[in-house]
Formats: sequence, structure tokens, C-alpha cells
Amino acid sequence: MKAIRFHTHGGPEVLRLEEVPDPVPSAGEVLVRVRACALNHLDIWERQGLPRVQIPLPHISGSDVAGEVVAASAGDVRPGQRVMLQPGVSCGRCAACLAGRDFECARYEVLGYRNHPGGYAELVAVPVQNLVPIPDEIDFVRAAAFPLTFLTAWHMLMTRARLERGEDVLVVAAGSGVGQAAVQIAALHGARVFATAGSDAKLERARALGAADVINHHTQDIAEEIKRLTNRRGVDVVIEHVGEATWAKSVRSLARGGRLVTCGATTGGRGALDLHALFAKQLSILGSYMGAKGELLQAARCFFSGQLTPVVDRTYPLAAAADAQRRLERSEQFGKIVLEVP
Ligand SMILES: [Zn+2]
Repeated sequence: MKAIRFHTHGGPEVLRLEEVPDPVPSAGEVLVRVRACALNHLDIWERQGLPRVQIPLPHISGSDVAGEVVAASAGDVRPGQRVMLQPGVSCGRCAACLAGRDFECARYEVLGYRNHPGGYAELVAVPVQNLVPIPDEIDFVRAAAFPLTFLTAWHMLMTRARLERGEDVLVVAAGSGVGQAAVQIAALHGARVFATAGSDAKLERARALGAADVINHHTQDIAEEIKRLTNRRGVDVVIEHVGEATWAKSVRSLARGGRLVTCGATTGGRGALDLHALFAKQLSILGSYMGAKGELLQAARCFFSGQLTPVVDRTYPLAAAADAQRRLERSEQFGKIVLEVP
């Protein structure tokens, strides 16, 4: 098969289109022909190299995949079945997996990260329980744009923050994959959503997705704007993933009893915390990583019924993966960048 691989860490130029052996499904796995694969920041960090993580080389990235079942050696799936893939791969047998918290499995892996080759390829092998059948009217590009970010945002809002109707939510960087998903999920569940972005065009799009008010995080002070918009109260929930650049203002935006959930630190991992504010305002700082298969299926129901719609920024052919990653690195996108595999 053809695949995009990198043999050394570095810039986008290390990505190479190559002829590589087809993946061989092991017991309980299914071979899927990739039709579309969405990008995530994780792809860029893998390519650049991470300080404490060993990435086996050469490596095939890609966590968000949609395609067709080629051959099924497990389960009741049929060849030709259109699917999207749950991006979290786990053992399926341990206490955490059986309790529905597969993201806490000791063998948890994200598809395309570390030891499980991903979807920048014509074929991918995954456990049968990772298949999510998609209806005929959902195209592969939109299906690939859905799983990782909607799963992440759903877990952050519904499970970690325990969002309730009528609450105020601040979504930082609404143009990102997680951001556009969080705005939609929070609005769908009856929250008043405030969203930030770095350009007027992106702010307009955030509004169209359901944000009640928007803040330009380059030209406005997020915490001051939130105070003004909430009559000095602050928000109940902050959805964070930007890190150092916005952390202090995100914490300051919280109301008494507020919960901040973070799933990333794109601009750096250091964030100070005023402990006086933490206890006096009874704040909760919550970490979040991926989510459970059951949560993805709940979110997918809303996708298939038209209540949630992944935003596709732009598509590229698989061979142009380097250009696609450059666009993501420059934060030019609104929504998901997707590779199409012929
Ligand atoms: Zn497990």
C-alpha cells in the first residue's frame, strides 16, 4: 500500500509518500481501506519528536479515520461496510475497559500515535470494537473529521465538567478541532457559550456554530470580556487546550464553583495558579484525555441526526500531507483539515 511515513523527526519535509507492506490484522482486528483521515496536533508533535515519548520509526500518523471494511476476521462486520474509527485502542478485557473507562486502560493507545500505525495510508488494521458504522448520507471526509475532537470535547463537557443546562461556558480557540466541537456540544446541551478566536472571520464562524458572544483573544483581554459579558460573575465552565498563552486568563474567567477542563497545552505546559482564588472561589481544575467508546457513540448519534456537524476546513490529497500539516501549524484553519485517500 501507499502511506505517508517519516523516518526521522523534523519539519513537514520529513513526511514521505512511500510504498510499504500492507498491515496484517491480528486476532480480533479488521482491515479498513482508508478514504479520509483528519489531522490533529498530535500528528505534528509525533513528527517533531516528544521529549519523553519514544515514537517507533518509521512511523505512520493519523488518528481520525473513515473508510470501508476490506476483510473481516472478527465480529459480524461485512466487507464494504462504511465506518469511522474510534481513535482509542484498548485491551477490552481489563477492569477499566469493562467499566466503560477504556481511556484508563493500561494498554490504551491512540491510533497513529506510538505503537499503532495510523490512517495516513491506504489501509489500517484496528480492533473490531473500534468500528463505528456510518449512515450512507455521511460522507467519508465529514466522518473522518468527527471522532477524536468530538470525543474529546464530549468527555470534557459532559463527563469531566458535568455541564448543566443554562450554564455559561467559555471555549478558548473555537477555530480548533476541539474548539468547534465544544461550542456545538455545549450549545446543544443548553449552555450559553462564549468563544474566543484570533481573527474576525473565525469569530463570525464561531457565532454561526452557536456561540452567544465572541472574544478576539489577540486584541481583547479574555477575562475582562468575560466579566463584562457575565455581569462580573464569570463562567461555570472553561474549555482549555491552548495552555500557557491563555491559562491565567482562563482561570480568571471562572465564576465561584467554576470548573476548568484542559485537554492540551499547545503553547506550552506551564500554568500558574493563585491558590487563594482556588480555595476561596472553590474552583475545580480538571484534566481530560480522550474519552470512552460509549461517549463517542452518544456523540455520533447527534452527528448522524444532524445536531452536531464537524466543520471541515479544507481537504488535501494524501500525497500533500506535508502542506496540510503546514496549514495546521500556522493555525490558519477553522475546523478540521482532512486528507483524502483515492
Ligand atoms: Zn483495558
